[in-house]
Amino acid sequence: MANDVAILGLGTMGSGMAANLLKAGFPLVVYNRSAVKAQALVDAGARLASTPAEAARNASVVISMLADDAASRGVWTGQNGALETVNDDTILIESSTVSPAWIAELATLASLHGAELLDAPITGSRMQAETGQLSFLVGGNTAALEIAAPVLRSMSKEIIHLGPVGSGAKMKLINNFLCGVQVASLAEGLVWIERSGLDPEKALSILKAGAPGSPLLGAISARMTTHNYSVNFLLKLMTKDLLYAEKEAAQCKVDLKTAEVARGLFEAAVAKGFGGEDMASVIEPLRDNK
Ligand code: NAP
Repeated sequence: MANDVAILGLGTMGSGMAANLLKAGFPLVVYNRSAVKAQALVDAGARLASTPAEAARNASVVISMLADDAASRGVWTGQNGALETVNDDTILIESSTVSPAWIAELATLASLHGAELLDAPITGSRMQAETGQLSFLVGGNTAALEIAAPVLRSMSKEIIHLGPVGSGAKMKLINNFLCGVQVASLAEGLVWIERSGLDPEKALSILKAGAPGSPLLGAISARMTTHNYSVNFLLKLMTKDLLYAEKEAAQCKVDLKTAEVARGLFEAAVAKGFGGEDMASVIEPLRDNK
């Protein structure tokens, strides 16, 4: 059996995850569309593959950490895609936040090569990726998860097995639906505070200590009040998560009206040029809107 671990995608999350795989001593092969982002990892001992197929060729575990369904589809199934070189010894792990519909399709494609797919999206952000404190929400076969667990453990504080393949993707969208709506409503609430004549610091400390308080409210309000939009979670990714959540909930005949409204605020921020900033910058168009 091959021993490499391959990671496809070295963005905000993938680069931190890759660094922890290296630290744990796994022979690591990395692929990123923009190869320049791999340099620090190569300097630290990773091998750079020029295509996803090359990355997966000798890997027992292949992890994908990409933007969305389209990026994942391209990297797994495109020309020189990773599926070209996987076999019945390979475990595929899709950790990107993607739609359960794409996970179902990818699982079928993997099975044509005899390979098992685990969907293992994560909670946690840049800091948790860098410090190996992510939580994996896993769907898929128990035996495959047992084999992959040491790899996942090196990047995480917990691995939660939710059921058959697709379960992790569903849970992740429910999680991010609640996050997206909260960030959007916090943006509105904070602009209201700023215009109300209340002391913003006092108002926020009441909210943080009270019933609306949450880890997200604490972290995001700090970024909004200091206008610090260095990226932990790209704003444009939240429009994608809310859209996938709306589509998935509709499968269960649930109409996510609050997600639709929140997505409107994030899309307005993308239109104003904040798509490449942290999602906390969703507040900026609201501040301008007088
Ligand atoms: P990111 O920094 O934007 O990185 C995106 C990655 O996808 C990069 O490697 C990028 O390659 C690649 N990519 C994008 N489009 C591509 C395409 N068409 N073909 C090939 N590669 C493509 O995103 P991230 O924050 O690491 O997030 C990765 C995934 O995890 C997303 O699904 C996100 O929703 C999810 N997530 C993020 C967080 C967070 O806090 N950031 C937390 C949990 C889950 P290039 O470098 O070449 O652009």
